[in-house]
Formats: sequence, C-alpha cells, structure tokens
Amino acid sequence: AARTALASWSGPGATADGVPVKILANVADGESARAARAAPVQGVGLFRTELSFLNRQDEPSVEEQAQIYGEVLSAFGADVHSAFGDEQYVVVRTLDAGSDKPVAFATHEGEENPALGVRGLRLSFGNPGLLDRQLEGIAAAAAATGTETWVMAPMVATVAEAKEFADKVHALGLKAGVMVEVPSAALLAHRMLEVVDFLSIGTNDLTQYTMAADRMATDLAHLTDPWQPAVLQLIAITAEAGRQAGKPVGVCGEAAADPLLACVLVGMGITSLSMAAAAVRPVGAQLAAASMDECEDAAEAALSAADPAAARDAVRALLR
Ligand code: PEP
Ligand code: MG
Repeated sequence: AARTALASWSGPGATADGVPVKILANVADGESARAARAAPVQGVGLFRTELSFLNRQDEPSVEEQAQIYGEVLSAFGADVHSAFGDEQYVVVRTLDAGSDKPVAFATHEGEENPALGVRGLRLSFGNPGLLDRQLEGIAAAAAATGTETWVMAPMVATVAEAKEFADKVHALGLKAGVMVEVPSAALLAHRMLEVVDFLSIGTNDLTQYTMAADRMATDLAHLTDPWQPAVLQLIAITAEAGRQAGKPVGVCGEAAADPLLACVLVGMGITSLSMAAAAVRPVGAQLAAASMDECEDAAEAALSAADPAAARDAVRALLR
C-alpha cells in the first residue's frame, strides 16, 4: 500500500486514520527552503543557521543576518499561499558552532575533545552578545516576513540553560524551544517543557552522546544507529513528556527520514518530523498507510526489541 501511495501522496502529513503529523524540511538557506515548499512540507523544522557562516571569518552584522534569515522565512511567509492552510511555520536554530561544524568567529580553538566542548548554546555563555545579535537578526526577519517563527537552541544540557535561552527569545515575542541532543535533556524533558514551548530531538547527536560513539566514525555505524534501544527509550521519554505537557515535540535528526522509524516516532507521541526534502514523500506515504494504533504497536515492538536489527524486523512485520 505504501508503494502505491508514494506516487500520489501530496500531504499534509497524517496517519491512515487522520491523526495529523507535521512534515517539515531541514534547510540550510533560501534556495533549499524554496525547493522544500514543493516537497511538499508544512514548513521548516530545522534551519541550520551555522551553515551560512562556515566560510566566514567575521560575524555578519545584525542587518546581514536578518537578510540571510529572511531568505528562508519568506519562503513560508504570511503572504505565501500554502496548500495546507495557514498552519505553516519555520524553526530557526541558533548557531550550532563547534565540533563537526566549526565557525571561525565563534568556535573555541584547541579543545581536547570538541564534541564535548564549548559548542552550540554553550558558546553563548562566554559570548552572550553573539546570541543576542543573532536573535535580533531573527526577530527582524520574522517581523519583515510575517512568518510564524520559532527559535531553538542546540546542545542544551540543563534546565537553567533552557530557561536563560527561552527568556531571551520570549522577550522578542517569539516561541522558544530547545533541542534534545544530550541524554540529560531527554531525561529532564518534563522540566525543560516547564520553561520552553516545544522540544526538537536531534537524533544524530542524541545517538552520538547516548552511545558514546562519534557520529562521523564510519566504523562505529552499528552504534550510531537511532534504532538502538537506549536511544529509542530516550526518545520515548521525551515524547511522553510532551504528551503530558500538551506541547509539541518533534524529531529533526536523520531518524525522521527513515519511513519505518518515522511511524515508530509518531506512535511514541512525536508531533512533527523534519527531514531532508528528498525524504518527505517516502515518509509521508508510509505514515499515510499506517493507523495511529499500528504506529503505537510499532513503537511498543521497537522499544522491547533487544537490538536494532530485531527492532527493524519487528516493525517491518507490523507495518508492511
Ligand atoms: C542532530 O544532531 O540530530 C541535528 C538535527 O542537528 P545536526 O545534525 O545539525 O547536529
Ligand atoms: Mg545536532
């Protein structure tokens, strides 16, 4: 059924019995955001702002940043007709500099272990102006385009970090969230949700930090697998916290682009899936072929499997 549906699926995201699930795009710039509209998606679940700065020696001015962010926001602006009504939005991630994404004007040099170093939101605590200027640029672009704009921070480990970030974003009148990429954030998801409006699980880093396995190390691919039971448990804890709080919890890592795993995530209570545009149709079609009950059964089967292969086999048997 899923294969037949693939050709004809045109969104919006929903299970076979009509439970809505936002299907969103991961983008890097205006060009990829405009292309994603046709994917078809209901917005952007992850705008990786640091990708615009990888080749820059100096921090762009607030005005230049506003222009760069406006390119992405305007692809989903208030004046842009959406096939899915007015419920489209863009999630802008603040600078995720460091480790696999070095940014010359921000990254700390000479760290012994950059993946565990001063990266992501942690950079802002030693250089608060950097975050403040970026938020100013994002707020200016949001005002200019009229786009529903949510802002989230990468690499958050404590509730205090989440609160400090959310206070700044709320002061600008925007929705604030944090990424769940560190096991501590997943375990404390319920408390994170007391201070933020939404969570977004970055399964690439969450898997890396849960399994203590470098996401770039190809010889550790058996460990850097989001089907690992420990990773699935942390995702389930985070999704359940979202259900309890009545707040959205999305997934924006590679896991969301795996059609079978996407159904598992939805069965756990995940409310949005953000992925590379190329994955949108396969994921949308697979989800449209599974009822919420089937997704919940798939989640249960995956969570009780002993290893990734067993989890995949069990879910495949349930969802074919
Ligand atoms: C992730 O870690 O899963 C994520 C979405 O962020 P990035 O891949 O940019 O680190
Ligand atoms: Mg990440």
